[in-house]
Amino acid sequence: MRVGVHVPVADGLVKAARRARALGCECVQVFVRNARGWRGRSYATAEVEGFRDTLAAHDISPIVIHSCYLVNLASPDRALREQSLRSVADDMVRAALLGGRFVVFHFGHHMGAGMNRGLRTVASAVRSLLSGGPPEVELLLENSAGRGTEMGAQWGEFAALLDLLDGDERVGLCFDTCHAHAAGHRLDGPRRVGRVLRAVGAAVPLSRLQLVHMNDCRGPAGSHVDHHQHIGRGTIGDVGFRSLLRRRELRGRCAVLETPIERPGDDRRNLRRIKRLQRRGVPRGRR
Ligand SMILES: [Zn+2]
Ligand SMILES: [Zn+2]
Repeated sequence: MRVGVHVPVADGLVKAARRARALGCECVQVFVRNARGWRGRSYATAEVEGFRDTLAAHDISPIVIHSCYLVNLASPDRALREQSLRSVADDMVRAALLGGRFVVFHFGHHMGAGMNRGLRTVASAVRSLLSGGPPEVELLLENSAGRGTEMGAQWGEFAALLDLLDGDERVGLCFDTCHAHAAGHRLDGPRRVGRVLRAVGAAVPLSRLQLVHMNDCRGPAGSHVDHHQHIGRGTIGDVGFRSLLRRRELRGRCAVLETPIERPGDDRRNLRRIKRLQRRGVPRGRR
């Protein structure tokens, strides 16, 4: 697997690309607007080129764009739904500009409208995004921890959505390890990892699983709490990540860390830990 980190863009795209390179990323994820707002600033041509050139020069790919957290394509509230649609559409345009392959967003919340209704609403939004957006950009829906009316915690929900989209080739799944584990798909051991991947594969072809968000989980499995933890320090643990990194089914995929930054260097330490697990396995005393 190619591993990388979600890097902040607060100091501009060029610094973000340099950060990715300094960390030793093989792939990278960024926001292209305020993560908790709708606003995105415009980029100067030189900044875009600097970003693309730096990443290309160091073979850092794919580039993943994460939509902002306010997006809810399933919202029964028309104004919010349309705002979400405009925002993801703009993410796709920016992805094309920046050389990004994937735009990732969450399934969203049906807010009491029910799962079927919610999935139909998302499907119609995705259909319009695909028909209006740049053809080279793919959309990835991220599984959730399944809190409240949050959709996407069960693999069958992704399968149902794909059906509604007639299996469109430009739609895939982003598998977030913390969300899966919190939703009750336990990843804390090789057998459990195998079982979860088989369950995904029973719902949809595993080729749809295009991206992994590698985050350890702070709460217990099945808690439905989306709280990311440093790799090896949560309830998934080194053993879970080691088996994920070595699964044949995930070979060639990319994995992006969205682990917390509590102290400077946490991103570097988490990426280093993942690379060590990939190479050598679980450190002694942590099995
Ligand atoms: Zn995630
Ligand atoms: Zn999360």
